[in-house]
Parts: sequence; structure tokens; C-alpha cells
Amino acid sequence: MRMYDIIRKKRDGLELSKAEIEWFVNGYVKGDIPDYQTSALCMAIYFKGMTIEETTALTFAIRDSGDKLKFNNINGLRVDKHSTGGVGDKTSLVVTPIVASLGVKVAKMSGRGLGHTGGTVDKLEAIPGFKTDLPTEEFEEIVNRVGIAIVGQNATLAPADKLLYALRDVTATVDSLPLIVSSIMSKKLAADDDCVVLDVKTGSGSFMKTKEQSRELAEWMVAIGKAAGKRMRALITDMDRPLGYNIGNSLEVIEAIETLKGNGPEDLTELSVALAAHMLVISDRGNYDECERNVRRAIESGDALMTFANMVEAQGGNKEWILNPTLFPEAPYSYEVKSEKAGYITGVNTEGYGVASLLLGAGRNTMADKIDFSAGIKLVKKTGDKVQIGDTLAVLYTSDEGRFAASRVKLLESTFIGDTKPADEPLILDIVE
Ligand code: URA
Repeated sequence: MRMYDIIRKKRDGLELSKAEIEWFVNGYVKGDIPDYQTSALCMAIYFKGMTIEETTALTFAIRDSGDKLKFNNINGLRVDKHSTGGVGDKTSLVVTPIVASLGVKVAKMSGRGLGHTGGTVDKLEAIPGFKTDLPTEEFEEIVNRVGIAIVGQNATLAPADKLLYALRDVTATVDSLPLIVSSIMSKKLAADDDCVVLDVKTGSGSFMKTKEQSRELAEWMVAIGKAAGKRMRALITDMDRPLGYNIGNSLEVIEAIETLKGNGPEDLTELSVALAAHMLVISDRGNYDECERNVRRAIESGDALMTFANMVEAQGGNKEWILNPTLFPEAPYSYEVKSEKAGYITGVNTEGYGVASLLLGAGRNTMADKIDFSAGIKLVKKTGDKVQIGDTLAVLYTSDEGRFAASRVKLLESTFIGDTKPADEPLILDIVE
């Protein structure tokens, strides 16, 4: 086979065979196929798309490019939840201890922040001492004892995705449906879970900007997961506004803790309860209404919060910070962004809010960058709120005062103010089973 012929075939809109896709993925991981040819193929896929059969073959080839996890020593069914990436999305920190406190095991591999979106591993590392890299035996022991452990993505898991993602990131080929499906699902399938609930984000803060694209993404991921023998479900949820009020690592951990205590913002609580209930339903814990009642009870009783605190302690962090989040240090500098217009917030560019948080030091521009854990944004006004000139829209936090100016400009240009109050939009738009 020749890479030239494969690129030309896809450029002309033809369907690649399973053998061609496997040959390309293996050759790329071995270093036999150069980045420039792989970039050309990604761009051809971006424009011409792939069939579900091609996408399934690509997903399986990426999954098979490295190790597959096998947790032989964890007792009971394991469930995972995965978000396609959003701003202020701390739901993993809320839903995983809830379901673990109700007896379903969570052995989770999470990612770091990507572009304008945050990552669970970075958020957990805002808790001093928390280890996101554990030997398998210790990981399994914590899952059996506490019910949950969360670690970073293993470097040997789906290595083809690591290479392809880095290339897509610099060749404007991230937001392609078959490439996103194969990237996410290859990693999910290489992990050893029985059930997966996907939170597919849609709107200005997500990789898929329209509901139709997000629905297709959800349907394909569910179909491919099922073809690999997993129990799957996907929720399509709104990312036209950040989730909750806090963006940035320690700020998001604090908001997740408040939600586990039952004092969280309405949108974050609604989505977390729904995701946790669906995770329990596909793990055979009853019908949706029963599972939702149990989720609410796990929050009210304090069991879910205690499970989170126990996981933090087991992974080397200080449990006291979870039980008393005022221990998280506030950033040395804060700045109030004032509205320059009066009216209603008719909408926001959520991706712009994610970038404003990155500009404060809450994320990375290169993999080598160090994160400022206390950096981020506390929103004061959100879509639908009335504002006067001079009202505070948001408070910015950082350890480097020089970062305020660019972040303020980004936040203001991402906030749209008009005369008419926008209609309330539902948070959960659809469910794909
Ligand atoms: N998350 C991933 O892991 N891969 C993508 O392509 C997009 C989001």
C-alpha cells in the first residue's frame, strides 16, 4: 500500500477499506508515515468525512495501537462518564463520587485541559498532594476500598490518538466528526469499563457548534461503543453558556464541593443529577426515577461528599480541604469586570470565556506551561440577567496582575448585551440510547 493512494482516495471522496485504515494508523505510530502525509489525510477527512464503517475501523485501529487496560482485581460493574469538552464543566467531580457512594465502581482515566476547555486531572491537581499517577495495584485497591479513583491518561493507552491529536491541533482539523469520534472512543474502548455515559456538548463553548452535529456525534459514539460491547448512553447538553459560575481549576473544585453539599448552582446540579442517574440506570440500579431519587439522597445525606473526601485522602490529598473548601487559597490578585452597556445578557461566546480564563493562567498554551491553580473567573451575571452600566459582570483571579488586561477584553467582547431578555433554553437537549 502507498500513503499517496490513500490520501488521493479520500481526497476524491471515496471510502477507505478497513485494511487501508489499519495500515495507515500502524504506519503512523511506527514513524513510517510522515506528519505531512498524515496532515493531508486529516484534512481530506475533514472535508470529505467518513462513513460510520470507516470511523469504526479508525476507532478500533487507534484503540489497538497501544495497551488495553484490564482491571482483574476490581470487583463489580464499572461505569464511566465522559464529556466532549466544555467551559466550567466540573460535572465529573460531582457525578463520580455520587455513583460510587451508591455502590457502582468508578475506575476513571481523565484528561487534561485541551484548547479552551478544562480537564478533570488539572482540577484534581489543584488539591495539594493529590496524585493523578498511581501504580495499577494501588489504583485497584482504592477503587475496591473507596469505590472510586481518578488518574491521568496512561501514556501507553491509544498512542496513535496522542500523535494524531497533536497534529490535528496545529492543522485546523480538530472539529471533524469522524476524527473526534475516533479520538474519544478509542480511549474509552481501551479502558476497562462496562458502561459509559457521554455528555456531548453543543454550542459556542464546544467543539460541535450545532445541535444536529452534536446529535450525529452522540449517535456515532453510542453505536461504536455498543459495537465494542459496552453499555452506552449519551446526553446532548447545552454549552452556549458556561456551566455554573466558576471557571478555573481550584474555583471549579470549590463549586463541585458546594454542589456535592447540595448548595451548587441550579444548572450544574441539574446536569450532575441527570448524568449520575443515567450512569446508575445503565448499571442496572433501577429505573430513572428511582435512580434520580437515590442520587438526591446521596447528596442530602453527605455520603457523596464523604466519598469524594475519602478518594482525595486515598490519593494523597488533604481531606480537610474538601470538608472545608475555604482552605483553598484565593489568588493574590482579583479584578472586577464592569459592564459598559445596559440591558440583558442575550448570550455569550462560551469559548471566549474559556480563553479569558486561559489568559489568566488557568490553562496551558504549550504542554510545558505550568498552571496557576487559583487563576480563573467567577461569573456574577449570566445569560438572561439584567445589567446596568458599571455592574460587575465577573471577577477575574490570577497570580500575575499583568494578565488582567487581555482577559478583561476577551470577556467583554464575548458578552452580548441587548434590549430583549432571551428565552430560557433547556440544559439537557436530547438523550441518545
Ligand atoms: N476530546 C478528545 O479526546 N478528542 C477530540 O478530538 C476532541 C475532544
